[in-house]
Amino acid sequence: MTDKFQRICAKVDLDAVRHNVKNMKANLTPGTEIMAVVKADGYGHGAVPIARELEPLTEIAGFAVATAQEAFILRDARIKKPILVLGHTFPCSYERMIREEIRFTVFRYDTLEALSKITSDLAGEGTFKKARVHIKVDTGMSRIGVRADGEGLDFVKKALETEGILVEGIFTHMARADEEDKSAAKKQIALFSDFLRRIEEETGRRIPVRHCSNSAGILELPEADFDLVRAGIAIYGLWPSGEMKRDTVCLMPVLSLYSTIVYVKEIEAGTAVSYGGTFVAPERMRIATVPVGYGDGYPRGLSGKGFVLVCGKKAPILGRVCMDQLMIDVTDIPQALEGEQVTLIGRDGREQITMELLGDLSGRFHYEFACGLGKRVPRIYI
Ligand code: PLP
Repeated sequence: MTDKFQRICAKVDLDAVRHNVKNMKANLTPGTEIMAVVKADGYGHGAVPIARELEPLTEIAGFAVATAQEAFILRDARIKKPILVLGHTFPCSYERMIREEIRFTVFRYDTLEALSKITSDLAGEGTFKKARVHIKVDTGMSRIGVRADGEGLDFVKKALETEGILVEGIFTHMARADEEDKSAAKKQIALFSDFLRRIEEETGRRIPVRHCSNSAGILELPEADFDLVRAGIAIYGLWPSGEMKRDTVCLMPVLSLYSTIVYVKEIEAGTAVSYGGTFVAPERMRIATVPVGYGDGYPRGLSGKGFVLVCGKKAPILGRVCMDQLMIDVTDIPQALEGEQVTLIGRDGREQITMELLGDLSGRFHYEFACGLGKRVPRIYI
């Protein structure tokens, strides 16, 4: 391996990504399609390599991202399947999105008007493309989205009749599907279903792609399947929360993180380790330095709490995690020498460190942990 991979390296297991998608699909209502959520650079795993791996699968209907910029990165990488931007899009991206058939999430009248004008300007230049939109309905997040009431219905009617707009989809997002008690999520599903019924009754139209579920819904709420589901964290082999039963679908963790011991030394009892001297050796110890820190996205919250794996054994982190280095206790691991592999996430022998565990230990949400893995961590795809 090159020097770059010896300091730190994240291995992304693409077989596991495919395995997770296929297992989720097997658990869905027949006919329900999967949209892979690859925002935030594929939750830190690399949006382009993940999308390239998933695009050929029949199980995957398309991709969802948070911003226009993220959608352009996928199109620049020649990803051809439909892409939906889940967040609000600013006007500077409208024209390119229309030209490249990137789907808009809409919930504001001014967006409809502006998109309509651009499609008509493009038609004037000989480009006849409609703006494909998915209407966002707020059923309980109080984030973006029209209300599931008469006001929301007026917006849907306006979208359906606006020149140049093609209403391809309509969706909502659940706030509490990952909880053991599903009553709040079920309320949202019922509100969404009623709203869809009302749209059909009042407009005589059925919007083709209706979607609601995130990973938690896919794994535990079959009634939220509709036409399509938006799978994020579960694609990467992680469960949305510790409250989930984990017996519906078999998920394989996708990312593992490795480094190498660069220095081993003995310290006397009473020697302080790292910034602030928060750890003081109670006795003579053998410690090792690992060249990884919070500058790589490895949380400082693991200071004095976390552990890594060396030679199949747990090696506790001593004192504070620095920006670029951390120290571990290898007193009981005599084989831990300079050059030995360190597993920060993943399996070594019988021991395993998951991103969920690191999230729990550091007090950092595991989604945030995945997204926060630094740019200077090379990803290798296996
Ligand atoms: N849909 C929307 C609108 C989202 O914001 C997200 C993620 O935040 C997802 C789907 C995917 O959620 P998850 O990663 O829990 O599957």
